[in-house]
Amino acid sequence: MGKTTVKVRLLEYSPNPEKIVTMAARLCYSASDIDGLEANVVAADQQSFVQKLLDLGHYSTIEHVSFTFGIEGVSRSLLAQITRHRIASFSVQSQRYVGETRQQNQNGIFDYVVPDSIMALGPEAMTEFAEQMAQIQKWYDGWVEKLGGGRGAYEDARFVLPNAAETKIMVTMNARELRHFFQLRCCRRAQWEIRRVAEQMLALVKEVAPVLFADAGPGCLVGPCPEGKLSCGNRAEVRKQYGLNSVGEVNQ
Ligand SMILES: Cc1cc2nc3c(=O)[nH]c(=O)nc-3n(C[C@H](O)[C@H](O)[C@H](O)COP(=O)(O)OP(=O)(O)OC[C@H]3O[C@@H](n4cnc5c(N)ncnc54)[C@H](O)[C@@H]3O)c2cc1C
Repeated sequence: MGKTTVKVRLLEYSPNPEKIVTMAARLCYSASDIDGLEANVVAADQQSFVQKLLDLGHYSTIEHVSFTFGIEGVSRSLLAQITRHRIASFSVQSQRYVGETRQQNQNGIFDYVVPDSIMALGPEAMTEFAEQMAQIQKWYDGWVEKLGGGRGAYEDARFVLPNAAETKIMVTMNARELRHFFQLRCCRRAQWEIRRVAEQMLALVKEVAPVLFADAGPGCLVGPCPEGKLSCGNRAEVRKQYGLNSVGEVNQ
C-alpha cells in the first residue's frame, strides 16, 4: 500500500463507566451492601459525584473502568513512545511473525507513515521519501532471501526497516491512566503523531464517559502549564481548543 494514515477506534469499554466509578466511591463512605449501593446510584447523582471525586483526587475509584482501542496507520516511532506508558496493556503486530516482503504488500511496498513536515515540502520531497522507502523494501527483501525466507528470516531482516514502518496496536488503559496519558500526550509539546492519536482517543472516550473526561486533556487545562520554561506559550489558545475560557470554565 505504501503511504498510510492513522485510524483510531474505541473497540470496547467498561459498560456504564460513570455508574461503576460512582458506586466505587459511594462504597467507601456507605454502610450499605452492594445491591443497595447499585439501587441508589441514579444518573443525576453520577455527574456531580464523579466531578467531586476528580476534584478531590480520589483517583483509585476511576481505575475500575477501562477502555480498549485499536490503532493502525501509525509508525514504529509512535510505538516506542506509547509503550512507555506502563500502566497500559498492549498487543502489537509482530515484525517477527508478519513479513513485509514485496509479495506480501499491495503495491509491492510495506506501509509507512509520512510526516506532515515532509509532505509540506511538496511532491518532489514526497517522491524522494517514497524512493527511500522503496530502497529499504529492496534491502529487506534481499535479507529475507539470504536468510532463507519465511518467519525465521523476518526476525532479522526487519532490522533494516525504518521508524516510518506502519504498525497496528491494541491498547487498554483504565480511566486514571488515560487521563494521565492525555495530560502528557495532548500537550502541544508532545510529538505530533502521538498527539494526533491521543486527541482522537480523547474524543472517543468523551462520547461514552463525558463526565469522567470532561476536563481531560493537556495539563494546562486544569492548572498552570507543567512544561515550565519549555511551555508552548499558547495556553489560552489550547484552552479555547478544548472549549474552556481563560479561567478554565466551559464556554457556554
Ligand atoms: C514531551 C515529552 C518528551 C519526552 N521525552 C523523552 C525523552 O527524551 N527520553 C525518554 O526516555 N523519554 C521521554 N519521554 C517519555 C517520558 O519520560 C515517560 O516515559 C512517558 O511520558 C510515560 O510517562 P509516565 O512514566 O508518567 O507514565 P506511565 O508509565 O503511564 O505511568 C503513570 C504514572 O504511574 C506512576 N508510575 C509508573 N511506573 C512507576 C514507577 N516505576 N515508579 C514510580 N511511579 C511509577 C507515575 O506516577 C507515572 O506518572 C517524553 C515524554 C513527553 C510527554
